Amino acid sequence: MSDSDASLRERAAKVVPGGMYGHLNAAIFGPGYPQFFLRGEGCRQWDADGREYVDLMCGWGPIILGHRHPAVERAVAAQQAAGDCLNGPGPVMVELAELMVDTIPSADWVMFSKNGTDATTQALMVARAATGRAKVLMAHGAYHGADPWCTPSPAGTTPNERADLIEFAYNDLASAEAAAAQAEGDVAAIIVTPFKHDSFEDQELADPEFARGVRALADRIGAALVIDDVRAGFRLDLRGSWEPFGVRPDLTAWSKALANGYAIAAVTGTDALRGPAQTLYSTGSFWFSAVPMAAAKATIETLRDIDGVSLMRRAGDRLRAGLDAQAASHGFTVRQTGPVQIPWLSFEADETLEKAMAWSAACLEEGVYLHPWHNWFLSAAHTDADVDRALQGTDAAFAKLRARFGAG
Ligand SMILES: *Cc1c(COP(=O)(O)O)cnc(C)c1O
Repeated sequence: MSDSDASLRERAAKVVPGGMYGHLNAAIFGPGYPQFFLRGEGCRQWDADGREYVDLMCGWGPIILGHRHPAVERAVAAQQAAGDCLNGPGPVMVELAELMVDTIPSADWVMFSKNGTDATTQALMVARAATGRAKVLMAHGAYHGADPWCTPSPAGTTPNERADLIEFAYNDLASAEAAAAQAEGDVAAIIVTPFKHDSFEDQELADPEFARGVRALADRIGAALVIDDVRAGFRLDLRGSWEPFGVRPDLTAWSKALANGYAIAAVTGTDALRGPAQTLYSTGSFWFSAVPMAAAKATIETLRDIDGVSLMRRAGDRLRAGLDAQAASHGFTVRQTGPVQIPWLSFEADETLEKAMAWSAACLEEGVYLHPWHNWFLSAAHTDADVDRALQGTDAAFAKLRARFGAG
C-alpha cells in the first residue's frame, strides 16, 4: 500500500518548490483534484488513494492510444532490452524519420528532441538561420511552451527574451498583416497553433481563410510558416492539422501525442530549410534515446492501422452530444468548443469559474477526470461504453450542481 495523496503532498511540500510546479500542479486546477497517480490502463487512471477515473485528460495530451497500449509497450520492451541511451542513435531513428516523412506531406526531414518547447524553439532557430532575421509573429495568448521566450509567466525571465515577438489576434488576418508591417521586413517566422486553445477561454477552430491567409503572408514577406502542432498533432489529422485546409507549413513542431506518453518531440521541415537546419547546434543528452523513438514508431503505425483519428472523433461526438443533452435537461447553458477529440465545456455567465470548478469537482467524485479551465483530450481507447460511463458521472455531477446553484 503506497502513501495517501495527502501524505505525499505533505512530504513533497518539504522537498519540491511549492509541493509541485508547472502544468500538473493540482493545487491550481480547482477543488478536489488528486496530485499523485499510481497507474493507468487504457482510458482509466488510478490516483494515489486508489480511486479509479475515466481519464478525459490523457496525461494532458500525450496518451493517444490509451495508457500502456500493447503495441507500444511491446516495441518499448524490445528496444529497452537492446539499450536506450547509447553512443549514437539506434536504427530506429532512421525508421521513425522515414515514417514521419512518409506520413506528413509537408515533411522532407525530421529533427528529434524531447519536449514541445524544444521543438517550437528549434523551429524558430531554423527559421532565423534561414532568413537571418529576428522577429517572430505569434497569436496573443497562444501557448508555445515554457522557455523564457514563451512561458506565460514572466517570473525568472527578462523583457529582452521576448523582445523579438510581435503579437496578432488569432483568426484575424488583418492583425497578422499589421504585425508583419510593424516588423519592417525583419520577420523570420509566423508561429501559429492549428486552432485556438488558450486556457480559460472557449476554444476556436481556425478559419480556413485565416490559415490560407497566413500562408500567403509568410510567402509574401519571405518568412517561415511554423505550425505548432504540439497539442493537436495526430489527433486531428495524421498528415498535419492544416492538411485538410490544403495549407502546408514550412516547419511543424510535434510532441505530446507522438509516442503515446514516451518523451520525444520533433521538428519537421521542407527541403528548402534542410540546409539551414543542418547549421544549427541544437542537441540534448537524451534527445537520441532509442526507446521513445521505438514508441513513436509504434504509435504512428498503430494510429494509421486502426484509423485512430476516426475513433477519437467518434468518442468525441458521443461525449459532446451526451453533455449537451445533460446540460439542457438540468437547465444549464453550456458551450462546447474546439474539435470533438480535444473537447472543452464552459458554463454561461461563469467568469469566476465557480460553476466549472464545482462541476469538475463533482465529476471527480463520480469517477470522471476532466478539467475546469484547460481543454481535455480523448484517445483511441475511449470506447462507446467508456464514454457512456463518463456520461453517467457527468450527469450525476450536473444534478449536484443544480442542487447547489439551481438551473442556469
Ligand atoms: C504543450 C505545448 C507546448 C510545450 O510542450 P512541452 O512538452 O510542455 O514543452 C508547446 N505548444 C503547444 C501548443 C502545447 O500545447
